[in-house]
Amino acid sequence: MKGKHSWSGSMRWRIVLIYFLLVFIVMVVVSVFITNSLESYQMDSLRNKLTSTVEKGSFLKTLSEYDNLLNHQEEIQETIIDTWEFGFSEELSIVDNNFTIVASTNENITGENAAEVLNTNVLTTAIMQGQMAEADGILSGNIPVKHLVYPFGGDGEGQSKGAVYIRADLSDIYDFSSESKFIFIYAMLLALLITAILGVLTSKSITDPINNVTAQAERMSYGDFSREVVVRSGDEIGRLAEMFNLLREKLDLTLSEMSNEKSKLETILKYMADGLLAVDLSGGIIHINPAATQMLDLLPEDIQEFNYDQIMSKCGKHLTLEGLLEGSKSGGAQDTFDFRGNVFAMRYDRFKDENGQDKGVIIVIQDITERQKLENMQTDFVANVSHELKTPLTTIKSYTETLLDGAMNEPEFATSFLSIIDTEADRMNRLVKDLLQLSRIDHQRERWSMKEINLIALLKSVIPKVELTARQKQQHLNVLFEEDAVIPVNIDKDRIEQVILNILSNAIKYTNDGGRIDIDVLEGGGNVRIIVSDNGIGISEADIPRVFERFYRVDKARSRAMGGTGLGLAIAKQIVEEHHGTITIESQEGKGTNVTITLPLAIRRGQRGID
Ligand code: ADP
Repeated sequence: MKGKHSWSGSMRWRIVLIYFLLVFIVMVVVSVFITNSLESYQMDSLRNKLTSTVEKGSFLKTLSEYDNLLNHQEEIQETIIDTWEFGFSEELSIVDNNFTIVASTNENITGENAAEVLNTNVLTTAIMQGQMAEADGILSGNIPVKHLVYPFGGDGEGQSKGAVYIRADLSDIYDFSSESKFIFIYAMLLALLITAILGVLTSKSITDPINNVTAQAERMSYGDFSREVVVRSGDEIGRLAEMFNLLREKLDLTLSEMSNEKSKLETILKYMADGLLAVDLSGGIIHINPAATQMLDLLPEDIQEFNYDQIMSKCGKHLTLEGLLEGSKSGGAQDTFDFRGNVFAMRYDRFKDENGQDKGVIIVIQDITERQKLENMQTDFVANVSHELKTPLTTIKSYTETLLDGAMNEPEFATSFLSIIDTEADRMNRLVKDLLQLSRIDHQRERWSMKEINLIALLKSVIPKVELTARQKQQHLNVLFEEDAVIPVNIDKDRIEQVILNILSNAIKYTNDGGRIDIDVLEGGGNVRIIVSDNGIGISEADIPRVFERFYRVDKARSRAMGGTGLGLAIAKQIVEEHHGTITIESQEGKGTNVTITLPLAIRRGQRGID
């Protein structure tokens, strides 16, 4: 702060200068006025004194009674010497109308021609016009004098008999006047000195608090709000400082609130799952959050280097900034684009400044790949359900019509057709049951009755249920696990039985006659694994991840011929996951399939009571 502004430019200097000039002007005016007044007062009093002395008594009257002044020269001389007690500074002469000095207090000029010795102008005025005349002049030796001429013995037409001529030395008056001027100059210098000191002190008392406020304002501009301005007085400047402190507090509060809001907003933007992009009207990126950076596959330097159009050019031409501005003309709009196998939805709108002028566009990007997948799955599911229900219905309908058309009357056809209708009705029944179960699991309405049971016992009770089918296909069903073992698991027995039955019947279904199916149980790491392996037709690598999808079947005709609904594995997966377990398939086409169900072991509490 200091040194930035010259002292001459400061308020302090101006205050001192104004004081100084004011005092100077007042002193000059006063001293000129007083010295002039004094001088003219002295002049007036000198003139009055002389005039009254001349006009007093019968002096002028006596003079005017003389016919010829020269004839009474001695008499007049005596009279003026006796009558007038003048000092050295005045000289009185009597001049007749022929301009002859008849008598004088200065004997040197008595009898001289007044025109040569005295001031002719004033003398002429007085004698010719009969009026008192006055003039200032300078005598040899540089002596200032006043000429005062009083005419006497006027003839009524202005002509006088003579005149009393006084010359008064003005040296004393002028000396006094210049003396007083010096006194005034000294007084003025003293006053100016005092003014300068007082000015500096006064201006300091004004400018110090202002400088204090300015210094604090400067600190505030660097973000330092810690110090208060010290308020010492209750005057305007004190009030200014007080208001400034109030302003500082409010500003500090507002700024800290703003910075809190900002950091809150930044945290929200940083961690929000949706991408956010703010772009100015020229396409420059104002802000981009990490989610958007990731979605658009950008590097930090890309954001510095590229504008919006360059960034988006790889995501689809129709999403240019111009397009966004056009699209958001009458409020927010949305669009979608595919990028690197993902589907993104973007909602965008213009943002404005405080005057309502467009400043740019805010874009929110959402990864809707999963949603889209789900929507597709839903649509597919509805189509599949309709199809799966329609197929048996069509069969039932066609056989029913054939029966009604007369086949009813032929017993061997009637029996065969009715058994087909029965099978199809069973399939529909299974399908509807499976669908209802899936829906219950989806909506968490399935009732689970979890109990601790011995898994080995459960398997032993399930195997006989499929043995007959396997035997019909001359398949070998091998139990590899220790049949006396006790493996406690906390499960819903019926649901897990349903899963194991499904896996075993799949193994039987998709294994040719004479094939081999092994069932094993392995314990380890707090889990138990039930492994069902077959040497059946197997599943291609591409189909493996899809077999858990609803209605997905590798070979639709075969599955359907075997009475499958295509929902078995989907339901099995849901049930196992509800038990905090997993189900996986390993398979090789033409060689066989391994299905592994992993379930958590129940915490062992002893074997007693476990069946
Ligand atoms: P489905 O009712 O058709 O059997 P699933 O959901 O149980 O339906 O099985 C889905 C599909 O997985 C089957 O259609 C079949 O193509 C395939 N699959 C399941 N288990 C096996 C297996 N052990 N061997 C070969 N393919 C199998």
